[in-house]
Amino acid sequence: MIETVGKPERLRVNEIFHSLQGEADAVGYPTVFVRLTGCPLRCQYCDTEYAFHAGDWLDLEAIINTVRGYGAQHVCVTGGEPLAQPNCLRLLERLCDQGFKVSLETSGALDISAVDGRVSRVVDVKTPGSHEAARNRIDNFGLLTPQDQLKFVICSREDYDWSKAFLQEHALSGRTRVLFSPSYNQLSPSALADWILADRLPVRFQLQLHKVLWADTPGK
Ligand code: SF4
Repeated sequence: MIETVGKPERLRVNEIFHSLQGEADAVGYPTVFVRLTGCPLRCQYCDTEYAFHAGDWLDLEAIINTVRGYGAQHVCVTGGEPLAQPNCLRLLERLCDQGFKVSLETSGALDISAVDGRVSRVVDVKTPGSHEAARNRIDNFGLLTPQDQLKFVICSREDYDWSKAFLQEHALSGRTRVLFSPSYNQLSPSALADWILADRLPVRFQLQLHKVLWADTPGK
């Protein structure tokens, strides 16, 4: 149980919406997304800049009731950077207690050690092409399990080569599942697929399903 005595159990929420999971292990499942406000990073390809500042303060109870109202099994807590708000940990715990299949999308820049063990953590590795590679928190890697996933968004051939070397340097392939995704409108998906196959790289290629279906429409 996470200690919250004296702290209001609320979070600043940018949006809550129902869509198909577009990424990672639960791709394609109807999912409720809880997008929390704020992020300390500024990746050059960010597609959720609208979540940096705007949002309403909501009690955890209200958030959970809204989530429950959609009738989906899967819940994804995302951002922004959701862990930038400490009460995110409490929300994750409460959602797990309610029996939801819970995932967390995080930038990889903040400590993931206190996240409830029932949560599937999708942790970014920021490549040089993101302009935020200095923010990767190397200490997180030792905490990853096969239930988690590491996600590289690749912007160029240079990013791909860097990512390949990074996997080897930190012995990441055997530790957790690794996803390579082309940066939307910046790298040809087929080029990335060809590089992975040519190198026999033990990673999972993914396209962002929601971008294929709805491009950059917010709330999708
Ligand atoms: S970590 Fe995510 S939300 Fe934050 S700037 Fe990067 S892409 Fe955008």
